[in-house]
Amino acid sequence: MSAAETAFRKRVVEALADPVLDTALARTTGLLAGRRRDVVAAFGDFERARDEGRDIKDHTLANLEAYLVAFERNATAAGAVVHWAETAEEARAVVIDICRSVDAKTVTKSKSMLGEEIGINAALEAAGIRPIETDLGEHIIQLAGEMPSHIIMPALHKTREEVSALFARHHRDHVAHTEVRDLVASARREIRDAYFAADVGITGANFLIAETGSAITVTNEGNAELTTALPRVHIAIAGIEKIVPTLADMTLLLRLLARSALGVDLAQYVTLYTGPRRAGDRDGPEAFHIVLVDHKRTDLLGGAYRDMLRCIRCGACMNECPVFGAIGGHAYGWVYPGPMGAVLTPTMLGLDWSSALPGACTLNGRCAEVCPVRIPLAKMLRRLRADGWRAGLVPLSTRLGVRVWAALATRPALYRAATAIGTLLARAADRVVGLERLPFIRGWTRTRRAPKPAARSFRTLWRDRERLR
Ligand code: SF4
Repeated sequence: MSAAETAFRKRVVEALADPVLDTALARTTGLLAGRRRDVVAAFGDFERARDEGRDIKDHTLANLEAYLVAFERNATAAGAVVHWAETAEEARAVVIDICRSVDAKTVTKSKSMLGEEIGINAALEAAGIRPIETDLGEHIIQLAGEMPSHIIMPALHKTREEVSALFARHHRDHVAHTEVRDLVASARREIRDAYFAADVGITGANFLIAETGSAITVTNEGNAELTTALPRVHIAIAGIEKIVPTLADMTLLLRLLARSALGVDLAQYVTLYTGPRRAGDRDGPEAFHIVLVDHKRTDLLGGAYRDMLRCIRCGACMNECPVFGAIGGHAYGWVYPGPMGAVLTPTMLGLDWSSALPGACTLNGRCAEVCPVRIPLAKMLRRLRADGWRAGLVPLSTRLGVRVWAALATRPALYRAATAIGTLLARAADRVVGLERLPFIRGWTRTRRAPKPAARSFRTLWRDRERLR
């Protein structure tokens, strides 16, 4: 077994043994999935909207270069400065150079998965610039020194009691309350001063509009607005796949995003940023920089996993995923968890680093059924498994097991004999020592019950059914 696979298994075992995580996951993912079902049912023709969303993204990806050039032209005309970064290192360097150019000591940040992806906080800290997360969930995990465990609810794995204890350690005047209202008030008191002290505000962008050169943020706390309105400089960092041609296209995707992410008709705050503050504006930054980041996206564009670039980071796939629901986000090992992470992590960081992720899937297909832009996640996970097999990344025991199974499955008489003998042996072992105690299935039975051999096999039941017809 590779070191990556061993590390993944260790994280999974730890997650499965964590009862607090189990409760948090069941409560949160179930709630979000239920809300999504309700608003989708009330939408009218949601399936048609999904088709349109997929088509908008596909059309944009097919003409990506033209739309990016149009975006740069229109954003520049509106007074923004557009930067291009091919790698995560380049993106970090651009952001730090801008911060240094205005002698920034602190920056406020609103939630950005791209920021997590490129490790912007660690880079800022290393450069002597203090990043302060302003989204409540991100604020919690920043204090805890953790990665997000869900792309929409980054601190989903934490209980109120854990958050209260964390705030008591880090906030200046936190009283040990565990009511959500009090926790929010404590975070608000703590972060509010940071908005006024920050020299630079950094946001992500949910969408970039080619026809206007605008960047869009979508939040439920209003923190992006304070992050961008108060400091002298606003930096928006965005993957190049965030581009859409028109405002009308963005509106359709926004409706899909709000329903799929939080089960609401529209997010609380949707803000378009087109250029910096203009003469007569009452607030807004003096300078607006937009950093367009590739970081492997053009590799995806030309390959078998291109559809993944349609992703609008709604998180619906993880809310429906039984594997995510059991192990949570941290077990996936990188910033993107769940089904979308099981595809994005190997395709962006390399299969040798994350070969176990495509295997951590039951292939039930629910993720693809809820994806608002119809990304065929299960199909991609199957393809990644095949890639891993071809690259020799599948453990020897699994390879041998599959070969034996294939040899039996293609010889019906042999298959019948082998399953009959196997059933007899399993029954005998269960009587004598108990199936759970067999050494070669301990990996399975450590956290689950071993299935007992059925009294009658499927083939026998099928034969009887056919006879009765
Ligand atoms: S893959 Fe689809 S469902 Fe999952 S986060 Fe992306 S858009 Fe949402």
